[in-house]
Amino acid sequence: GPDLSTRGPEGDVAVSFEFFPPKTDKMAAALHQTAQDLAPLKPRFVSVTYGAGGSTRERTLAATAVLAREAGVPVAGHLTCVNATRAQVDDVARAYWAQGVRHIVALRGDPPGQAGQAPGGRFTPTPGGYDNAAGLVRGLREIAPFEISVAAYPENHPEATSAQADLDNLKAKLDAGATRAITQFFFEAGTFLRFRDRAAAAGITAEIVPGILPIANIEQAYTFAAQCGTHIPLWMRRMFDGLDAQPETRALVTTAVAGELCRQLRAEGVTQFHFYTLNKSAPSAALCRLLGRHPILENVAA
Ligand code: FAD
Repeated sequence: GPDLSTRGPEGDVAVSFEFFPPKTDKMAAALHQTAQDLAPLKPRFVSVTYGAGGSTRERTLAATAVLAREAGVPVAGHLTCVNATRAQVDDVARAYWAQGVRHIVALRGDPPGQAGQAPGGRFTPTPGGYDNAAGLVRGLREIAPFEISVAAYPENHPEATSAQADLDNLKAKLDAGATRAITQFFFEAGTFLRFRDRAAAAGITAEIVPGILPIANIEQAYTFAAQCGTHIPLWMRRMFDGLDAQPETRALVTTAVAGELCRQLRAEGVTQFHFYTLNKSAPSAALCRLLGRHPILENVAA
């Protein structure tokens, strides 16, 4: 047949997919299917989050174990400093390594029950625990030669005293040994592009990968955006207004909105994308295709 590829066989963008640890056997089966569906897109890695307050340690480790064994793609495990001593956090890192997981998304985390800027929900280090993500990165370097990614905030972390302080903190995490930053989700290309410029001006050379959220539930997305300081433009509120009652239309609008964002970023030279999949394959797979990333079906291990 005709060669439908752009540059490489999979297209010229690199992608990764984020999952959350399943709560039930049914959700675990669904995640397994999602991972199978996305594997032909040959992601650089798939990652599994670590629940707020460190609440999902067992479930996260169970999910990374299955993915590392069966997904046929590199797996990254998220890890946070909340409610755990260094020894406990280090044990999770060693458990990842033992599973064959060679990449950690190193985070400070938030106190249980309240994310980001919730009043009174400030992170306080556990006695004998890591103080912040930079400390965790340093600790991980002593455990094993993990690849390490860290979080970045195009609209600033809610606790940052200034935009510069937030950027300094990102630089500290990279200087400590992380090789990549993945951003919090955002909805306007300019938000990311300005951040990319500021990071470059601050001497940050590591890749900064935009985190893309295809909205699945509008109210939930707005609540989370408010907690993590993500701005929701008025045009977007209008576009999604009332659509939770019309899931099919919502899904189409979601893909159109996120697709436009991805294509704007691509036009500005962005070649790496991280998708917050919410454990669903179709929206992220559609966005990959819009970006020219093609599934390589024949290469997938049976
Ligand atoms: P840090 O980089 O440590 O910094 C947090 C804030 O504190 C920043 O404002 C920073 O400027 C400030 N700060 C840090 N150190 C100092 C210091 N020494 N002095 C002064 N200020 C300081 N959360 C989870 O619970 N589980 C997950 O799996 C998870 N995955 C995520 C994935 C991505 C890609 C992103 C973007 C976020 C994720 N989060 C996750 C959320 C994250 O845990 C929260 O945003 C948390 O509040 C901050 O974590 P951090 O690693 O960015 O913290």
